[in-house]
Amino acid sequence: MERVVLKTRSRLKPRVFLAGLFHETHCFLDDRTGLDAFRLSQGEALAKQIGDGSPLGAAIERGAELGWEFVWGVDGRALPSGLVRDEVFETFWQRLEACWEPGVSAIFLVLHGAMVTESLPDVEGELLRRIRGLEGAEFIPLCGVYDLHAHFSIQMARLADGLVAYRRNPHSDAAEASVRAVGLLQKALERGERPRVALRQTQLCWPPIHTGTDSEPMRTLEQSAREIEAADPDVEVLNVTAGFAYGDSPGRGLSFQVVSFRRDRRFDEYFDPLESQACALEVEPAQGGGSIRETIKGLQREWQGLTVLVEPSDNIGAGAPGDGTGALRLLLEHQIQRAVVCLWDPETVSRLTSVAVGSRTPLSLGGKGSRFDRGPVCVEGELVRKGPGVFTLEDSASHLASLSGRTFDMGASAVVRVDGITILLTSQRTPPFDLGQWSSQGIDLSDFRAVVVKAAVAHRRAYDPITTRTVVLDTPGPCSSDLGCFTYRHGQEPGGAD
Ligand SMILES: [Zn+2]
Repeated sequence: MERVVLKTRSRLKPRVFLAGLFHETHCFLDDRTGLDAFRLSQGEALAKQIGDGSPLGAAIERGAELGWEFVWGVDGRALPSGLVRDEVFETFWQRLEACWEPGVSAIFLVLHGAMVTESLPDVEGELLRRIRGLEGAEFIPLCGVYDLHAHFSIQMARLADGLVAYRRNPHSDAAEASVRAVGLLQKALERGERPRVALRQTQLCWPPIHTGTDSEPMRTLEQSAREIEAADPDVEVLNVTAGFAYGDSPGRGLSFQVVSFRRDRRFDEYFDPLESQACALEVEPAQGGGSIRETIKGLQREWQGLTVLVEPSDNIGAGAPGDGTGALRLLLEHQIQRAVVCLWDPETVSRLTSVAVGSRTPLSLGGKGSRFDRGPVCVEGELVRKGPGVFTLEDSASHLASLSGRTFDMGASAVVRVDGITILLTSQRTPPFDLGQWSSQGIDLSDFRAVVVKAAVAHRRAYDPITTRTVVLDTPGPCSSDLGCFTYRHGQEPGGAD
């Protein structure tokens, strides 16, 4: 593996093998994620993602500008969800192997970096190991892009030449990061040299709500990383990888990576102070903390503008079902009027197909997806609307674009009203990262006083501009910020790698 300099510099167009594997696995959910949850595309179908705002689309666009000829591999993606079944990765791998062409000049990967299967705690490390074992792949440059909520393993650092993380959370820069990674691979091809990844893992592990890059500790760490990158020409990229606390994988904690063509440098002079800084920085308390009772009292009195009620325990972007009833119960119990909630509830949507719009009907809402919830809320309500849930993103740079491109399909959907509360029911889990989710269903948030958002940080790009205040609710759910709730099978990897 240590042969470094490429044998020849080709004057021909580089032929780059392109593949993607994108899943953030929440290992403490009840459900397993099977093949049916994954969208697998391969061959020419990958080219369709050009111009869709996703990191894969951005890589294709930028690569084409640089004159790359793509050898299309496989792209597999699913929304964050529970432990992935082994057959998903094996199917993905078989298809990738079938697309492989031994004569390619380089490999580009679009990863999330936090996938875990029944048998593999470090899927991306295993993917890299298998790729390097393909005929002709052992010594060619391999670069790629990944989400900062990755568990970056020692194996990944050893086998990849240059991986580039997103720098913002909410992830408004996924496409930008991908373009940066393409630039790195292009540089490797032009120089006829492979960079390497120096890694420092830490024992710190933060729940997702503390990984926003507009707050501490990530804000300062990002800033320090950019300063180092600007000052040292040997540092091509310095990633601050926040990690993913709900992944039971050895690399789940905070880590740093330097990508450099200087293979003899360890970069401890940067890793040491960054790690000390990370340990010393105080985690900023979540916005608008306080007891739920106080919050609700406030909601009953103060009615200026839109209040966002954040429910991080049911964070869809981190894999939670999005059908938790904690916030809905509070609203109903305290008779909060003009509030709006979205719940993932395919069962109820399906039952409503036989109900006429405008009629009243018994409902059994949410509470079906997690053992942490109290179960469905059984009430009577009015069916206001039903129909398809596909929508075009209002913000093409939103985090949802990095997951799905310019459109998102919530599946068959319905809107019901219960005691002054409007509830959007969807058949597909829909992370609340784009306001098109509401407008497409005839819901104008300016008509409402409160909206429940099942997220931790990623919603803020969409909601902060339209919100007068944000309150974080501490309801039961699988994405609790108290990591002591979870029993990990794998300890965290200790330290770094060469
Ligand atoms: Zn992320």
